[in-house]
Amino acid sequence: AKKEGNSSSSIIQGKYELGRLLGHGTFAKVYHARNLQSGTSVAIKVVGKEKVMKAGMTKQVAFFDLVALTFYMVKREIAVMKMVRHPNIVELHEVMASKSKIYIVMELVRGGELFNKIIHGRLREDAARLYFQQLISAIDFCHSRGVYHRDLKLENLLLDDHGNLKVTDFGLSAISGSCSNQDGLLHTTCGTPAYVAPEVIGSNGYDGAKSDLWSCGVILYVLLAGYLPFKDESIISLYRKINRGDFRCPPWFSPDARRLVTGLLDPNPKKRFTVPKVTDLAWFKKTAPRQSNER
Ligand code: ADP
Ligand code: MG
Repeated sequence: AKKEGNSSSSIIQGKYELGRLLGHGTFAKVYHARNLQSGTSVAIKVVGKEKVMKAGMTKQVAFFDLVALTFYMVKREIAVMKMVRHPNIVELHEVMASKSKIYIVMELVRGGELFNKIIHGRLREDAARLYFQQLISAIDFCHSRGVYHRDLKLENLLLDDHGNLKVTDFGLSAISGSCSNQDGLLHTTCGTPAYVAPEVIGSNGYDGAKSDLWSCGVILYVLLAGYLPFKDESIISLYRKINRGDFRCPPWFSPDARRLVTGLLDPNPKKRFTVPKVTDLAWFKKTAPRQSNER
């Protein structure tokens, strides 16, 4: 049971009533909430300063650096989310702040994480294709606006009531221009190790669109295989495998799926499949049977 203060603190700025916990990440918790005026349900991501302080103490990172960094990240996340309105991207409603917390009010996505779909095993290619098509549609939309996600992984892909994909967690994304050098390449190492592209590990700078496509390759692999393409106990060996593109497709992948995954997980960003290349493939274009009441 969560103890998030007394009942008065579960009403946010007289406008929203906080409900149950939906999920959490490193610095944030996401709650179900209700708009008291309209009765509409929303999701509220709460970023607390005291959590940041605790992390700062245990990890011995300067507290003020962490607070500044978190605020900077939240501000960036808000800016990014306001720029993108797409059926497969979680919609941002508003942002509020109290003395101790920041509240990011967004569209409530009710179907949970896509991750839960593969807990009990891999997906059939038709099912995986549908999610992948929606993911590429969202990514393409963002990229054409100079927005890169940079932390694409199964945990950040949610499902709505109809089983449609919604990309969330723009906490690490960067807007082209504000975060890149003159060469137009991004220079911050971020993302989650198992999903991270080789050039992101290296320090030569990278193209946000290309590294997002790498992560899409990891996601598609996981959906079809039921496990990660790159895995290792040690982070050094993991990165070595990623750098070499050292993975194997399981025998049940169809030849076309194999070609697509291999094209996305090309360690050379120049040779890696681009969105037009992906959307032009027969595998991608195949229309899946309708899945409206399939769960
Ligand atoms: P963090 O930046 O800390 O990783 P996320 O934005 O990824 O936080 O949210 C953490 C978790 O909360 C998600 O993995 C998901 O389970 C849940 N969640 C996030 N946004 C929503 C939403 N709009 N609707 C429902 N659940 C959500
Ligand atoms: Mg997250």
